[in-house]
Amino acid sequence: MEIFKAVLLILSGTFFTFISLAPFVSNDVIWGIVLLGIGLFLLFAGVAIIKNKRKKGIRSESASPEVIISKDISPYDNKSDINFQISLPSILSVSGLTKEQKDRIVYILDNYFSDPRTLEKEFIALLLGGKWEWPEFKLWHQKFTELDYFPYMWSAVQYLPSEVTPEAVQTLEIFSTLSLDARRLLVGNYAIVKGKQTTRAVEDIGRVVGMTKSKTLEVIKELQKYDIAKFPLDINENLVILKVNDLKDICEEYKLPKTGKKSEIIERISQSIPEEELKSLLPSEAQRDVAKIGFSLPLRARNNVEWEIEKIRLLVHTVQLSFYRIKDIEQFKKSGLQEFEILGVKEDPCPICSPLNGKIVAIDDIKSLPPFHPGCRCTAIAHFDF
Ligand SMILES: [Zn+2]
Repeated sequence: MEIFKAVLLILSGTFFTFISLAPFVSNDVIWGIVLLGIGLFLLFAGVAIIKNKRKKGIRSESASPEVIISKDISPYDNKSDINFQISLPSILSVSGLTKEQKDRIVYILDNYFSDPRTLEKEFIALLLGGKWEWPEFKLWHQKFTELDYFPYMWSAVQYLPSEVTPEAVQTLEIFSTLSLDARRLLVGNYAIVKGKQTTRAVEDIGRVVGMTKSKTLEVIKELQKYDIAKFPLDINENLVILKVNDLKDICEEYKLPKTGKKSEIIERISQSIPEEELKSLLPSEAQRDVAKIGFSLPLRARNNVEWEIEKIRLLVHTVQLSFYRIKDIEQFKKSGLQEFEILGVKEDPCPICSPLNGKIVAIDDIKSLPPFHPGCRCTAIAHFDF
């Protein structure tokens, strides 16, 4: 349709440009300029449409993820929201994503693709507690249960949680209602599955996710509504970020006993030294604004939340491997290579992958390339046929 429009514009543009010659010849310069103007405008409009179309075409050929409705044979794919145009979309099709999640996944993959740790954190911040589904996880879990074999990457998720505690449900619910910044801040500070909150300087809390101090304080305010942050802290809570030796120095100055656990020493100091005096004594490190953030989860809730996180990590691993494959294919094609050789992992003889080890496949035979299942660690290397 767009091409048709472009051709029409170019044709009519050429026509107007051509007939503008007539008034010029008969010395009617004004009419000539008007017609020439119309002609050139139509011409440029037509060319612009074609250029634009070309750009779009090039983009969809790149390795960027495509949010598309899958055309794969898997029965689940019809429902999937996000898919990656590669061999095994069935492994990667995830359904039920929100618009925010879809857009952000594209952004994350564009920006953090080669940084696995950040990629993982960003995905956890985005997906934890959400209502998305990964049907193939269930299918493959069943399959590996039948085979009585779980690949290495599955070790943390192979045992399904026997029960989901109300505390875990509540935690996941709260997490998913927080703003993306708040979720990133919690994940970046490993402040989700701990028994108690983390105490750190506000600047440091923000720095791990590239947030300014004022933005961090804003997010901390949001977290305070749910009791997952505290700011400002009492003086004895500030003392937590000091090293034990520093605390002992203070004890010595005030002739207090230096024995006991860190928490006991802090208790002793804050009870024996007036607050104002203590403040002046603190090293600059502890005079900074300090906050506490994080859920304080009972162990049973922690196990559930941790399991959800591990499932997301498995997804991220699979997404990443698939993308490496796409990049490999692009690169190999450019250098004229024709074939891949599949390499399995020796110490992990997977019943799905072992039969494929050493197989030579054509570079275009995308379906025959790893990952063969979620958490697959097979690789594909260039194969030279001498
Ligand atoms: Zn395998």
